[in-house]
Amino acid sequence: MKRERVVIIGSGPAGMAAAVYTARAQLNPVIIVGKQFGGQAAITHEIENYPGFVDPIGGAELAERMKSQSERFGAQYVWDEVSKVDFSQRPFKVETYNETYLADSVIVTIGADPRKLHIPGEGENIGRGVSYCGTCDGFFFRGKEVVVVGGGDSAFEEGIFLTRFATKVTIMYRKGQDQLRASIALQTRAAHNPKINILYNTVINRIDAADHAVSSVNITDTVSGVTSDFKTDGVFVFIGHDPNSGVFNGQIATDESGYIITDSRYRTSIEGVFAGGEIQDPIWRQVATSVGQGTAAGMSAIQWLEAHED
Ligand code: NDP
Repeated sequence: MKRERVVIIGSGPAGMAAAVYTARAQLNPVIIVGKQFGGQAAITHEIENYPGFVDPIGGAELAERMKSQSERFGAQYVWDEVSKVDFSQRPFKVETYNETYLADSVIVTIGADPRKLHIPGEGENIGRGVSYCGTCDGFFFRGKEVVVVGGGDSAFEEGIFLTRFATKVTIMYRKGQDQLRASIALQTRAAHNPKINILYNTVINRIDAADHAVSSVNITDTVSGVTSDFKTDGVFVFIGHDPNSGVFNGQIATDESGYIITDSRYRTSIEGVFAGGEIQDPIWRQVATSVGQGTAAGMSAIQWLEAHED
């Protein structure tokens, strides 16, 4: 087992920002990439609100640039996932499916996963019409009709993106228009898009398929109480995220939703373990905020290691 100064769990913007800073401090961080290199940002079609980029940049390209930048200073990327950790003593133990790392400090930037509806027909039709990523799967719906579930920025942004491919996008929101969480800017763009239709007070009960592909959703209008079948070729679910803190098995303090609790220096409940990005931030979820949080977590780790030289 090799002993590392810094192990970073997760390769989204927070993890790679922490990598840039800890690598420049000559700590040769090891980044355990996880199941999605670049995190959620890398599967975002275009990012147009990350400061410094006048023209939009593709999420995958931004992720590659961050990786190359950190590698220039000595960051080491490991294409594996963390299966278990032991934070009960130092050095900490971080196990992946292929290796065990001993770490003087750990930075957790493992992010959050898209939330599921947990209704009949959802799990069995993933990849057959049910999706959680417009950028990844939109292309398969050229000339087809799709449903988007949710009422936040993600549902509206992805719904607008999907109109590039689909002939019709129906956003289904479980509450009334006045309770939408999506920004007014996105609501206005959706309202001006002739391919978008919004059904309010609409709950999806079931996703039905025919010939191994989604064919309709069974919905209820919560105001009238009327239940009906709505024909569609695809269902894109954008109803928020769940933090990936399960792998820590209760060893780090989290809130009731599973988000890791940090202080203003991005320290967790365990001395020497830091966290940044969506695993500790249920609110902002921007590339820019994740980069800031990852940077701060990285700088805290650098300071902490300096103070704890053995
Ligand atoms: P949000 O938590 O903002 O919205 C989730 C939506 O899904 C809500 O409308 C919620 O309904 C609905 N929902 C939740 N659970 C269910 C369920 N079981 N069945 C049906 N509907 C459900 O998540 P987002 O992913 O949209 O956004 C998260 C954060 O990321 C926000 O802060 C957002 O601003 C940010 N973001 C910013 C973007 C940008 O700036 N360009 C782009 C995308 C996201 P209800 O309202 O009833 O709770």
